[in-house]
Amino acid sequence: MGDVFERLGIPTIINAKGAATRLSGALLAPEVAEAMAEASRTPVDMTALQARASEIIAEATGAEAGYVTSGAAAGLLLGTAACVSGLDPARMNRLPDTRGMANQIVVARSHRNFYDHAVRTCGVKLVEVGLADRFAGAGVRDTEAWEIDAAIGERTAAVLYVAQSHSQPSLPDVVAVARARGVPVIVDAAAQLPPAANLRRFIAEGADLVVFSGGKALGGPQASGILAGRRDLIQAAALQHLDTDIHFAQWNPPPTFIDKSRLPGLPQHGIGRPCKVGREEVVGLLVALRRFIAEGDAARERRWTARAEALRDALAGLPHAEVTLVPDSYRPGMAGVRLRLDEAAAGFDAMALLNRLAAGEPSVHADNSQVRDGIVGFAPICLRDEDIDIVARRVAQELRRNS
Ligand SMILES: *Cc1c(COP(=O)(O)O)cnc(C)c1O
Repeated sequence: MGDVFERLGIPTIINAKGAATRLSGALLAPEVAEAMAEASRTPVDMTALQARASEIIAEATGAEAGYVTSGAAAGLLLGTAACVSGLDPARMNRLPDTRGMANQIVVARSHRNFYDHAVRTCGVKLVEVGLADRFAGAGVRDTEAWEIDAAIGERTAAVLYVAQSHSQPSLPDVVAVARARGVPVIVDAAAQLPPAANLRRFIAEGADLVVFSGGKALGGPQASGILAGRRDLIQAAALQHLDTDIHFAQWNPPPTFIDKSRLPGLPQHGIGRPCKVGREEVVGLLVALRRFIAEGDAARERRWTARAEALRDALAGLPHAEVTLVPDSYRPGMAGVRLRLDEAAAGFDAMALLNRLAAGEPSVHADNSQVRDGIVGFAPICLRDEDIDIVARRVAQELRRNS
C-alpha cells in the first residue's frame, strides 16, 4: 500500500538542505513520533499539560518557567505580547492595538530579520539602533550597548536580541543596560541548538525570555517551539495563547504555573490564539527535548559527521566537482558536505545543479546558501541512511550529463 504520502498521491523528497520549514523540518525519531501518536488517543486538559511542560522546560533551561509554542516565531509573538501587556487582561484583549501602552521594541539594526514580523504582529514599533559597518565593509564596528541604552525610553516594552555566533553587542552587555532601565530582553535563539549548553546559556546570561525552534536540530515536531523565561512573562504569554473560553469561577490553573489570585478576570482568546499547539506537539517537543539532552553533543556530532563522511565518500571522484567535509565551528555536529562546482568546465552553474537535483526523480533538495559562490551544500541531519546512495547517484548523473 506504500506510505501515507503515496496513498494520498503526494510526492516525497530527499532533504539534504537541513531542517528547513519549507522542506517539512526535522525527521522525528521513532520515540518522538510514537509519543505523539500515543498522545493523540487520550484527551488532556491543555493548561495542566502546559503547566507540566513549564516544569520540564524550566529544568532543561534554568529558567523560572517555560511554555511550548507552535514554533520559535510563535514564541517571539507570545513573548512580545507578554512584555507589552504584562498581567493586565484588559491590555491582552486590546492587542494588537497598543495605544497608550509602552509599545516600542529596541533592536540592533544588524539583528533585523524577517522573523521579527512575529514581533511586529503585536502592534509594536521596532526602534532600530546603530549601523553595522562591519557588514558593509566600511568599518569594524556594529551597534554598541550604549546606543541601545540611549534608545530605551518610557515607551520601550523590550529589547529584542537575535543570538548568532557573530551577534554584537554581546548579550551580557545588552542585558546590563536593559536591566539598569528595567526593560526585559527577548532572545531569538531559534537555531542555536546544538550545543545543548545553549539551552541554559541565554537564560544564564540574563535573558528574560528566550525562544528555540522545536522543528530544527532539536528533532521535535515541525510546528513546535520553546519559550522560556521569567515566570510572570510566561504567565502573560500563556494567558494570550490558551483557550480561555471558560467561566472564571470554573478555571483552576495549577497555581505554580498561573497565579489566578493576581488576575481580576480571564482575558478572551488572545493574540496568540492563531498559533495554537496541540497535545501531540507538546508531548513530541518534550520527548524530543529529553532525547536531545540525553544524547549529548559528542554522540550527536559522531552520528551526523558519520553520515556527512559517508556522503562525501559517495560523491568522491566526480567530474567538475571538488567535494570536502566542512565542519561547523560554532555548532558541534553540524558538519556538511561542500561541492564546489567548476562551472566553466561543467557548462552549467551551481544554481542549475540545484534546480536539476530538485526537479529530478527522486527530488533532492540541497543547501542553496552558497550558490552564488558556485557551491552546493549537503547537510546530513535530515538524510536517512538509504538516501546517501540516491543523492550520490543523482549528483553523478547531473555532473556526467555533458561529459
Ligand atoms: C528558524 C528561525 C525562526 C523561526 O523558527 P520556527 O520554529 O520555524 O518558528 C526564528 N528566528 C530565527 C533566527 C530562525 O533561524
